[in-house]
Amino acid sequence: MINKKVTVKGKEKDTEKIRKSEIEKIRKMLLLQKDELIKKTQDTMRDESEFDKDDLPDEIDHASFEYNQSLTLRLRDREQYLLNKIIKALKMIDEGTYGICESCGDDIDVKRLLARPVATLCIKCKEEQEKREKIQEG
Ligand SMILES: [Zn+2]
Repeated sequence: MINKKVTVKGKEKDTEKIRKSEIEKIRKMLLLQKDELIKKTQDTMRDESEFDKDDLPDEIDHASFEYNQSLTLRLRDREQYLLNKIIKALKMIDEGTYGICESCGDDIDVKRLLARPVATLCIKCKEEQEKREKIQEG
């Protein structure tokens, strides 16, 4: 009995070590992703400011300009949303609260975090949330 307990404890420590090194990997991944997103957003903004609407020759181009602009805005919204999530995740890593399920407080499986670094729910709670949403949708 005592021996068994010691083994389990040792195992838990190893898991914790692995988890920490995996989270460190995720942190580097997120930092890279953050830099890329910021660069992308800046590029889009520069492109737009260089583009003069008055230079457009006819109405068709005006229409496509507006189409492109709304597409850019939508894209930027999505990037901004992701960027906020990444910043939040990085802050949580610094604070040591990263990888903890917001719903049940359990550790989120590190494999899930590697696949989806901005996840804030464990797979169990995520599935339950999806089930609830499905019921709400009818
Ligand atoms: Zn959970």
